[in-house]
Amino acid sequence: MHTINKIGKNFWYITPISVTDRPILGMVVGNNKTLMIDAGNSVDHANYFMKGTLKEDSSPDVVVLTHWHWDHIFGLPALPHTLSIASSKTKREMEKLIPYSWSDEAIDERVKEGTEIEFCAKAIKEEYKDHRDITIALPDVTFENRVEIDLGGVTCIVQYVGGDHAADSAIVYIKEEKILFLGDCIYPNMYAKKENYTVQETLRLLEELESFDAETYIPSHQKPITKEEFHQEATKLRMIATYTERYRGDQQVILKEYEKYVKRELREDEIETIGQFVNGF
Ligand SMILES: [Zn+2]
Repeated sequence: MHTINKIGKNFWYITPISVTDRPILGMVVGNNKTLMIDAGNSVDHANYFMKGTLKEDSSPDVVVLTHWHWDHIFGLPALPHTLSIASSKTKREMEKLIPYSWSDEAIDERVKEGTEIEFCAKAIKEEYKDHRDITIALPDVTFENRVEIDLGGVTCIVQYVGGDHAADSAIVYIKEEKILFLGDCIYPNMYAKKENYTVQETLRLLEELESFDAETYIPSHQKPITKEEFHQEATKLRMIATYTERYRGDQQVILKEYEKYVKRELREDEIETIGQFVNGF
């Protein structure tokens, strides 16, 4: 079950659900305007969140899409009167989805040919159990690098950051609340034969994310984390990236050396991350 929580004075979010791959959605409420972050994996998902955060039958003034993946954009048709904003790269990727059929057969076929992944195929079938009326609505406004939106007393900076997970990724920084909505940008590339991170992209992305003076970070498929927790995650990724480069992607050596560095037995997530960097090397 979803719950809707508040952080600070102006920000609400809905918790994720893993079986249908529903990500966290955000709502930033200013004195003049309201901005939603991501449209969700279905019209039901978007409507549920809007009902829980806005007045009866109203929708936000603006919605920002973090990247093109289905679970962040399929809910957009629920917001026909809302100005939608995405990076131009996101719009280009979304356009590619328009001709697709979403029947089980069509999805399975795309999994077979490698344009869809099993993980998403399963979640789509789970979210759309009894109907498959999926339409792709495109964003109204696109930007290249950065856009700043003044909602009245609270400002959202939407910044294109890219990264391994999706080359079109953007983040939303809610300045006055010091909240950095990460979307999926710090996750590995899932749309590949083997899930992977690359050394250069990871190091570049971390540097860009660390240029924001945030107190709270929101990775879309987990839960909000503190500055300290984000710092730990960033250090893990940076060290594993560095070791991957230094030991030329040799998994056994990286495991051994990283264990020496942390001076304890490795956790499961660390072993998994090392595997993902080795895959990307
Ligand atoms: Zn994603």
